[in-house]
Amino acid sequence: MLEIVRVPALSDNYVWLIHDPASGETLAIDPSEAEPVLAAAKERGWTISQIWNTHWHPDHIGGNAAIKAATGALVTGPAAEAAKIPTLDATVSEGDTVRLGAHAATVWETPAHTAGHVSFYFAEDGAIFVGDTLFAMGCGRLFEGTAAQMFANMQRLAALPDDTLVYGAHEYTLSNGRFAAAVEPDNRAIAERLAAVEAARAAGEATLPTTIALERATNPFLRARSAAELAERRAAKDGFRG
Ligand SMILES: [Zn+2]
Repeated sequence: MLEIVRVPALSDNYVWLIHDPASGETLAIDPSEAEPVLAAAKERGWTISQIWNTHWHPDHIGGNAAIKAATGALVTGPAAEAAKIPTLDATVSEGDTVRLGAHAATVWETPAHTAGHVSFYFAEDGAIFVGDTLFAMGCGRLFEGTAAQMFANMQRLAALPDDTLVYGAHEYTLSNGRFAAAVEPDNRAIAERLAAVEAARAAGEATLPTTIALERATNPFLRARSAAELAERRAAKDGFRG
């Protein structure tokens, strides 16, 4: 069993620290900064041996260099963004397999937020690390891609088993939930989840990871019926003040 720890970083990022007791390996996904991630590993007696990046944005790779310097960790990231991530040791593309000990993850190209964005799917462990592609009740902004690409990503994610755990990189759930409730005011699952999220956030609790089943029921982007509808919702969310 993998041990997965959520490390809050910067203002609203989550870095996922994953430890494989069998091999002793420890992986940091999207370390926005080094200090809290190194501290979380040290606290548990773990040494970070790998870093995986989903995309080039500074709040996902900012800790690469310092963690590498402190631990000798190997850094893996999207081939299509290699020029923008100078700390990479290895690059990956669609269909590649990356490993943490004996645990294999398949690389999915999930472009739209950035042109080369990737996600890491541990099929046997029932977990996917999606960076800024899918959030709880939301999706990433379309900075370098199209609504059609994001729609394809959502369709692919929606087809995963119900209980797949989804690890996104930001705590945006409260704002996303308010938007979701505005988009689908009659959706009871959204209203109930929003109430739960409001309570969790008021208590200072995190709302990630989420599951595919929950997103299918409450995420207006995963629920969009076409690329056009997703585009419309994404544009509305960009201007939404909730
Ligand atoms: Zn980003």
